[in-house]
This record gives sequence, C-alpha cells and structure tokens, in this order.
Amino acid sequence: MLEKQIQAHPERFRVLTGDRPTGPLHLGHLFGTLQNRVRLQDMGVDLFVIIADYQVLTDRDVADRLAETVEGLVLDYLAVGIDPERATVFTHSAIPALNQLMLPFLSLVSVPELQRNPTVKEEIAHSRQSAVSGLMFTYPVHQAADILFCKGNLVPVGRDQLPHVEITRTIARRFTERYGPVFPEPDALLSSAPVLLGTDGTKMSKSRNNAIAIGASADETARLLKGARTDTDRHITYDPVGRPEVSSLVLLAALCLGRSPEDVAAEIGSGGAAALKRTVTEAVNEFLAPMRARRADYAADTGYVRKIIQIGNERANAIADATLAEVRTAMGTAY
Ligand code: ATP
Ligand code: MG
Repeated sequence: MLEKQIQAHPERFRVLTGDRPTGPLHLGHLFGTLQNRVRLQDMGVDLFVIIADYQVLTDRDVADRLAETVEGLVLDYLAVGIDPERATVFTHSAIPALNQLMLPFLSLVSVPELQRNPTVKEEIAHSRQSAVSGLMFTYPVHQAADILFCKGNLVPVGRDQLPHVEITRTIARRFTERYGPVFPEPDALLSSAPVLLGTDGTKMSKSRNNAIAIGASADETARLLKGARTDTDRHITYDPVGRPEVSSLVLLAALCLGRSPEDVAAEIGSGGAAALKRTVTEAVNEFLAPMRARRADYAADTGYVRKIIQIGNERANAIADATLAEVRTAMGTAY
C-alpha cells in the first residue's frame, strides 16, 4: 500500500533517516536501511541523511574521534550509492534550530512513555556509561525533532527504530491537536532484513564488536566470519528462531547472492560450519567489492567529503529555521 503510493507519487515523500557516528557502517545498515535509502533516492524521493553526532553521547561519556568517524560515514554513503547531488547529508550538532524543537516536543510526552521504550531498555543493557544519562531517555524525542524539522514523512530504518518512529508519530499528532497542523505523521519503512545479526548472534551493531564493515578489507572480512559463532549441528538449515547464529550467516550469504536462505542452506547441507563460513565469506566479499572500490576512490578526496557536509548543513539549516518560525507562530511565541 505504502510502497504503491511511493511509486505513484515519489514527490509527495521526504525521507529522513540516519546513523550515529559511532563507527563504520556495516552489513546490518546495508540490508536494513541503506539499500532502501538508495532505492528511494533513485525513485525520485527527496532524501535527507542525518549524522546523529549528539546521539553518540547517549550510551558513552565521551565521543571519540568524531571528525574521522563522520568522514567515514560519508564515504560509506558514497560507496553504497547515496548521491550528494540529490541527497542532503548533514550533521546533527550543526543545526541549532532543529535542536530547539526538542523543548516543545519534550512537553508532549510523559516520563512513563519514555521509560517504557523497549529499544532504550535494550541499549541501557549494552551501555558503556556507569549511570544512565538523561539523554538516553530523551534521545527518541530528539529523533522526533530530527525527522520532523524537515517534515520527513518516510523513515527507512531497522526494527530497533520502530518504537522511536512511534514516539515521533505521537508527538506530531499531539502537536497538531494542541497547536495546529505543522508536522506530518511519518511512516517507518522496514526492509526484508530488519534486524541482521552479528558474528556473536546478537543484533549487528557498530558498538558491539560483532559487525562486518562495508569498508573492511576482504581479509578482515574472512577473519571476522571465521570467528563467527555457530552451533554443533553439522547439518546446515535455515531456522532463525531455533538456530539464530547459523541462520544469520545463511541469510547473509543469501542476501549477497540474491537467493533464498532455504536454497543456500540446502546447498551447503551437511558441509558444516566450515563450508557455511566459506560460502558466506565469498558471497560477502564479492558483493561488497564494487562498493569497497568506490569507497577507496572517494577516500582519496577528503575535501569532497567535507564539501558534502558543508552543503548539506547549509540546506538543513535553512529548512530548520523555516520550520522553527512556523512552530513559533503556531505556539504563539513569535514575539
Ligand atoms: P550503535 O551500536 O552505535 O547504536 P548501530 O549499528 O545500532 O550502532 P545506528 O547508527 O544506531 O547503528 O543505526 C542506524 C540505522 O541502521 C538505524 O535505522 C538502524 O535501525 C539500522 N540498523 C542498525 N543495525 C542494524 C541491523 N543489525 N539490522 C538492520 N538494521 C540495522
Ligand atoms: Mg544503534
């Protein structure tokens, strides 16, 4: 239904989505959200990509090597086909008017609503902070501002983000009820791999040392996959609930090969974990080779990367200023 509407009228949609600069983008990003971003961009949908630098501080006390990581993210975007001529890539902290939206938005949600958020609970469990910060509980509201400042109405994300998109919808709805229509109620868009698992069998994450980076070398990829967790049953099957570790490797190979996971598992049969790892390593390295080559080409031109962010920030700032003016008028604070 949503997909049909996008195809019929791409000009009616604006995508806002993004990533935290906590490390290089990985296969979970690629299959969970990046492919959708590129597909929508190529269909003619206006694409905004936020590099959520403030949100690095949700689960750690210090944001290390931010400039370098941000640059790496832009290279990953270029590698997978995000086109800066058509897409707006910007950094969160450079858009002051966007952050101003957080205050009225905070007033539209209750503390129990924030405390109930299952993704926040999960992230607290993996947090590197000794005490949970206020930003950890409020970052989904921050994210609502990220989406709504540019009136994004389509958010291609992984499954972990669904509770946050729901909070964004609630905030947009309550803002409309209280002050009048300024914001759309955005829809989340999941891919066919909404939560790809990492080499340890939990969600592949930049911060969990279980990820295969898009920009990793072929050798590093082979090493990481060799160390991936499997189980003792030599017969390879695709059973995501009963055998999550083995099945996530099968799925990864299948996604890269453009085949069904059942087929890939049947082909490996009783070859065991070693054959599975060989298959998935070859499939991943072959699939990523052209992206890795493009990434290396762009990496030689850091001036270009910085220019992309500078232009994106200018564009995002102009939009955020205009939206904030509308919000002030709606709230009666345009003195
Ligand atoms: P961190 O561990 O630092 O939180 P992350 O790997 O979870 O990093 P984010 O920057 O938090 O990455 O997420 C960026 C986007 O990628 C979100 O839309 C998220 O849903 C999606 N995403 C991240 N990991 C996966 C995954 N394993 N499978 C599918 N989508 C994912
Ligand atoms: Mg995350």
